[in-house]
Amino acid sequence: MSGGPDIRIIQLVMALRSAGLSDKAVLGAIERTPRDVFVPQGFQDQAYENRPLPIDCGQTISQPFVVGAMTQALKLDDRCKVLEIGTGSGYQAAVLARLARRVYTVERYRTLSKEAEARFAELRLSNIVQRIGDGALGWPEQAPFDRIIVTAAAPERPDGLLEQLKPGGIAVAPVQQGKVQTLIRYTRDDAGDLHEEALFDVRFVPLVSGAARAL
Ligand code: SAH
Repeated sequence: MSGGPDIRIIQLVMALRSAGLSDKAVLGAIERTPRDVFVPQGFQDQAYENRPLPIDCGQTISQPFVVGAMTQALKLDDRCKVLEIGTGSGYQAAVLARLARRVYTVERYRTLSKEAEARFAELRLSNIVQRIGDGALGWPEQAPFDRIIVTAAAPERPDGLLEQLKPGGIAVAPVQQGKVQTLIRYTRDDAGDLHEEALFDVRFVPLVSGAARAL
């Protein structure tokens, strides 16, 4: 390992910039987050390609562009308390943790949650709090949140989660709309009313409600 960032990260950041990501803080957070740490052994050679990859338990680590675009859509600052549903590999949480005060992330597979925990420790990301459980219920004990990000596709508007969003808060979630999934940004205004805006179409694994998996 040399001192500077891996050349593959620089190339990935350049690719994301040409794909339309413009927020310098978000690009900087991606640059400081080694994606190879989050990718399984068999896919190391593709860790810095702009594509989703398989992880354990039949799930996926999101495409870097989607991670960047969702992070950018959240308009984070270092005072934000963020809830993430779907820890998966932990990559999205790691990127969020560089920009927010604290990240609360929920995963239904114990295996994935434990693997992510080891990665957060390796990268010394101490502002991520994890829980194994049904993320569709949010995290009532820690609510309300300044920001909420759902990284699995909700079958409809995730009202239960949006109830845990503060006035002035922003949420992003992929929502199934007929045959396509659309990334929706929800903004709760200071009066408490919810506004929604479609960003772009995405492909996520489904948000599965019910008990957590002991696996
Ligand atoms: N943010 C992840 C993407 C993971 S894919 C990353 O950066 O790698 C989506 C994840 O959501 C999967 O790990 C899946 O197990 C999880 N998931 C699906 N439904 C869930 C639910 N109801 N509660 C918590 N996690 C859920």
